[in-house]
Amino acid sequence: MDDITRGEELQEKLKNKKVNGWKTIKEGEEAQISKFADEYIYFLNNCKTEREVIGFSKSVLEKNNFKSINEMSELKTGDRVFYINRDKSMFIAVIGKERLENGINIIGAHVDSPRLDLKPNPLYEDEEFALFKTHYYGGIKKYQWTTIPLALHGVIVKPDGEKVVVNIGEDEKDPVFTITDLLPHLAQEQMEKKLKEGITGEELNVLVGSIPFIDDKISENVKLNILRILNEKYGIREIDFLSSELEVVPAFKARNLGFDSSMVAGYGQDDRVCAYTSLRGILDIYEPEKTAVCILSDKEEIGSMGNTGMESRIFDYFISELLNKLSQNTPNMLEKVYANSKMLSADVDAGLDPTFAYVSERNNAARIGYGIGLNKYTGSRGKSGASDANAEYVAQIRNLFETNGIKYQLSELGKVDTGGGGTIAYILANKGIDVIDCGVPVLCMHSPYEVTSKFDIYMAYKAYNSFFKD
Ligand code: MN
Ligand code: MN
Repeated sequence: MDDITRGEELQEKLKNKKVNGWKTIKEGEEAQISKFADEYIYFLNNCKTEREVIGFSKSVLEKNNFKSINEMSELKTGDRVFYINRDKSMFIAVIGKERLENGINIIGAHVDSPRLDLKPNPLYEDEEFALFKTHYYGGIKKYQWTTIPLALHGVIVKPDGEKVVVNIGEDEKDPVFTITDLLPHLAQEQMEKKLKEGITGEELNVLVGSIPFIDDKISENVKLNILRILNEKYGIREIDFLSSELEVVPAFKARNLGFDSSMVAGYGQDDRVCAYTSLRGILDIYEPEKTAVCILSDKEEIGSMGNTGMESRIFDYFISELLNKLSQNTPNMLEKVYANSKMLSADVDAGLDPTFAYVSERNNAARIGYGIGLNKYTGSRGKSGASDANAEYVAQIRNLFETNGIKYQLSELGKVDTGGGGTIAYILANKGIDVIDCGVPVLCMHSPYEVTSKFDIYMAYKAYNSFFKD
């Protein structure tokens, strides 16, 4: 014992030691981490749009005895319900033993991801190529979306209400699409431009065909041939694009990353990594003390506006319905519920990238493999636009994680004045709820191929599950 120095003793007692999560896992945990990641990869490969996430979640919930709240005239402790909003967002609840006015435990993730949407009049012909015009959705680095295989997902709704579901480019037998870029030999002028101007929004045109329909009496024969194929395959005419939501997403599959398969590479992990882990986290909740609520929201990447975004009053409607069907509603009860509630805003965090470490302040950067990331505040410049979690609430969450052996880290999004960002946290905080950002750190965020650590994914699941049980 006497070979431990006073300094070592003090260090052990006083320093906040940050340790790589892989060094801390217990016997048998590696297999659980790996199995969970396999299931997550399956989810990513089947859910590349918000609608697909909601459809997938609905079937998982129904298998776990959750019912649509619309089918329930009254609710009691232990009831498991969900509400689907226009196929694009969803609220899930497990009714707890305590009255809602004592507060509820909410976890909110978003299920939309940056992508390219087709314009309302997308199809055109140029130099005997058929192409789709796009309008990018969310914050993207445009050059990253050229010369990669792309798939098309979404819906086309006809005036009579018939809905055609499109999903092409995922099956090995499907064709894919791509956005062209200049060959380096002729890119002298382009290469001199600023990176953000190298590829412009109007240059993100998706190549979709090149065989002309043989008839000398018409023009734009390649476009007509594509319309003929679309009509055969989907029963649509060009005008039907007007009432469609078609999303261009990367066609490649999510995969294990690294010789050690310690990471997951795949599209849409912001924020489906948190959506999946919070969905999994509520499945084994049966009779919690506090009512557990999981939010899968839409439109976060473009500001949470609209009736499927978190700014919508539809969440208030859902909580009011819980109150009504529990016979617990009285004047101002909704506000009272919120004032006593707590939330984890489950959204991804920027992980420290060794190649671009200059944007991070190392003491306050989230590290891949160091556990779930908490952000006390987000925002930009002088914390502008931030929902800053109260120290008392941060302490509660620390206590929850430390008690349950969940590895966590507290970080900021990059160096001061380097940039910034936000999540849905402020929207719920504005209702009076205690909120902190809590999610998985990601490399290459918003790119077609984002990177996460399997250790962090598993910690997120455990963190969310323990929060629902709290
Ligand atoms: Mn996000
Ligand atoms: Mn994002």
